[in-house]
Amino acid sequence: MIELQKGHTDLATDIQKRSGINFNACLHCRTCSNACPFVAGMDYLPNVLLRMVQMGMEEQALESSTIWVCVGCNTCCSFCPMAIDIPAVMDGLREKALAKGVKIGEPDILSFHNEVLKTVEKYGRTHKLEIMMRYKLKKRDFLSDMGVGLKMLKKRKLDLTPSKIKDKQALVKIFKHNSKT
Ligand code: SF4
Ligand code: SF4
Repeated sequence: MIELQKGHTDLATDIQKRSGINFNACLHCRTCSNACPFVAGMDYLPNVLLRMVQMGMEEQALESSTIWVCVGCNTCCSFCPMAIDIPAVMDGLREKALAKGVKIGEPDILSFHNEVLKTVEKYGRTHKLEIMMRYKLKKRDFLSDMGVGLKMLKKRKLDLTPSKIKDKQALVKIFKHNSKT
């Protein structure tokens, strides 16, 4: 028998508020999970995660690897018969996981996201080489992916110097605003 967890409405309401998505329309048809190209790396299928949020399984949902493995590619929503914006729900769950300081399901992915954001804050654009170097330094893992990195350099997919936007003040405003929200 399925049992609703205490506070199940709180979690669902909070995630609906954060994401702006009413996922109660979900039919649990599993089309999203069948379409998702990244399910192999997830501990819960996307439709199962939605059900967990509806049922108030807060700890399991916020600590799941699924919310970090999702890359927001929108494949699931383009097939969903109810047009549910699952990536927005994932964003809401990631936001809540960080706000609550729970155990992060995929700390390396979070660390990578943070390095991406740092270069956006600095230059207004991503700088892939710097992101990779800072990430590798943090992990103290210098050799894995070396071959891929060299191939990318050779094909000029990695710029040695960052390209920057002109209006740095706009960036300061965006990052200041986000740190308050
Ligand atoms: S495809 Fe849409 S309706 Fe079907 S399970 Fe996924 S989110 Fe729910
Ligand atoms: S947005 Fe996330 S859940 Fe949806 S298909 Fe892409 S990776 Fe899978």
